[in-house]
Amino acid sequence: MKKIVIIGAGLGGLTAGNLLAKKGYQIKIFESHNAPGGYTAGFRCKGFYFESGTLSFESSNTIFKAMQEIGILDKIEFVRQKSRWLSAYYDGTSETYHEFKNLFYTAFPDEKLKLKRYFTETDKMVQAMQPFVLGKKKFFNTLFSGYKLFRLFRRYNNVPISEFTNRFFDKNTILNQFFKYWLPGYGCLADGGSNCHNF
Ligand SMILES: Cc1cc2nc3c(=O)[nH]c(=O)nc-3n(C[C@H](O)[C@H](O)[C@H](O)COP(=O)(O)OP(=O)(O)OC[C@H]3O[C@@H](n4cnc5c(N)ncnc54)[C@H](O)[C@@H]3O)c2cc1C
Repeated sequence: MKKIVIIGAGLGGLTAGNLLAKKGYQIKIFESHNAPGGYTAGFRCKGFYFESGTLSFESSNTIFKAMQEIGILDKIEFVRQKSRWLSAYYDGTSETYHEFKNLFYTAFPDEKLKLKRYFTETDKMVQAMQPFVLGKKKFFNTLFSGYKLFRLFRRYNNVPISEFTNRFFDKNTILNQFFKYWLPGYGCLADGGSNCHNF
């Protein structure tokens, strides 16, 4: 029996280790921290739960497939990610990309046109990524989305997020300040129930 040593009991090490163990390898995982989980392991302090990194599974398709193969998917209770967006200008929760957009349309009615232009562009990114992230892979869908992603990649490959944001919102405005640090779509693919969180 082949022996494999894995350094690090994060999501990567634990998943690889368990998948390999299923295939009959003898696995030893070394972890330097006092608990396994890496960035997916939060901690509790004074009655509160704190994240140490991962808030949700963005590549849930891959993670869930691996968990199913390992045999633990139905043993874990997942909770859909709900985010609260709070500032002096807006306060609301969103569970989906659609809700997230509405929150900004409601908070900034005078900027509706700019927001619409901006979201039209980010919608393209979200839509092109969806078959890959959500795992709803139909051959022509995937091919078409792959082509769209490739085109978007070529268009924005060398465009920093701040420059992208400046194209839609005037500098030093609240919306510019917000979107310059956070590109919707990346963490907002929850429409298909992909973003799940367990704790
Ligand atoms: C702030 C932050 C937010 C994030 N948010 C998200 C999110 O919302 N959704 C998402 O999908 N992804 C998110 N990510 C990314 C995600 O956390 C990582 O992709 C994932 O945790 C990587 O897993 P890993 O096993 O490769 O590494 P890690 O989770 O980093 O695990 C590595 C493990 O190896 C151990 N280790 C390191 N060196 C040694 C050594 N020499 N000997 C023994 N053990 C060692 C560490 O202690 C750790 O336990 C986020 C990351 C960060 C930093």
